[in-house]
Amino acid sequence: MKRIFCALLALVTAIFASSCSQASTPVAADEGSAKLLVHFLDVGQGDSILLESDDEFVLIDGGERDCGDQVLRYIEDRGADELKYMIATHPHADHIGGLRPVVNGIEVENFITKSADCDTYSWTKLLRAVENNHVNTIEAQADDTYSFGSAELTVLAPLSVYPEDYNNASIVVMVTCGSIRFLLTGDAGRESEYEMLDRGEELSADVLKCGHHGSSDSTSDRFLKAVNPSFAVVSCGADNDYGHPHRETVQKLKTLGCPLLRTDETGTITAYTDGTHLRFSAENADLSVYTYTVGDTKNDTSALGYIGNKNSGYFHYSDCDGAQSMKEKNKVFFDNREDAVDAGYTPCPNCQP
Ligand SMILES: [Zn+2]
Ligand SMILES: [Zn+2]
Repeated sequence: MKRIFCALLALVTAIFASSCSQASTPVAADEGSAKLLVHFLDVGQGDSILLESDDEFVLIDGGERDCGDQVLRYIEDRGADELKYMIATHPHADHIGGLRPVVNGIEVENFITKSADCDTYSWTKLLRAVENNHVNTIEAQADDTYSFGSAELTVLAPLSVYPEDYNNASIVVMVTCGSIRFLLTGDAGRESEYEMLDRGEELSADVLKCGHHGSSDSTSDRFLKAVNPSFAVVSCGADNDYGHPHRETVQKLKTLGCPLLRTDETGTITAYTDGTHLRFSAENADLSVYTYTVGDTKNDTSALGYIGNKNSGYFHYSDCDGAQSMKEKNKVFFDNREDAVDAGYTPCPNCQP
């Protein structure tokens, strides 16, 4: 059954695979004193992120198979002759399809992944290519930290086994350079987000790469509140068949006052930081208005809405299942948490508003 599911998944992914745009290297912006560059590559409907610090490189995912050559070219255009780490967040083809041409085309020192019970064409071919190229394979574990240049990345998830839910099994990493933090979540959904929260992990970050291409399954209110990013990035294809990013995600970022940068709108996006300042450039747009310096005021997360249930007396984040399934006549809306508590409502134990 699992085999059939995997094969079907591969087929569906192949049918819906959007073709790669011809992203070229955006080096227009002065790289100045940047110690870490984070490139969110425009690979259409998929994910591929290149991290660069002091001439050491890390690649997280590589988009679909037909994007692999473009991703490889981008890495080479950045002057890399090897990748210190290559990370496959999870076995879906829109993340790992393009990694095979990369591992066959450039020296890769270490391959970080989470083993998965998956036998799709792209996954088995990737593992074989990694083996054939004698790349050291590392099984990702929460709390593992890897350094490159003057930056480092720490694995935050997955925290449990999701045998048939590859998205929630995504490797999630926090990338830090000085005081600037990037949270890169693969396709992790709410379950994984809640696990990270329940573990008491420090999740605050300056840039959040929203999970699952901006799907409403990810970037839950509770998670977003803890991360409180100054900028959100979504990697997706123009007019993709999934409707990514979903309007719920776009709306909650807007409510928070967090700018959303999208590869489908601007092409490849690059973030630059010296550890204190943060700025962006993009292939097809001027993002120079988006800057952040450590100490700048963060967004007020109390703007994220709450819904109380007149019947049960609980109140929820508006994206909690408990709020979604509530009868219209039982709903009472609160602008902030204090109002809900003052009105005698109890926080939902699930979404923990
Ligand atoms: Zn996925
Ligand atoms: Zn995906």
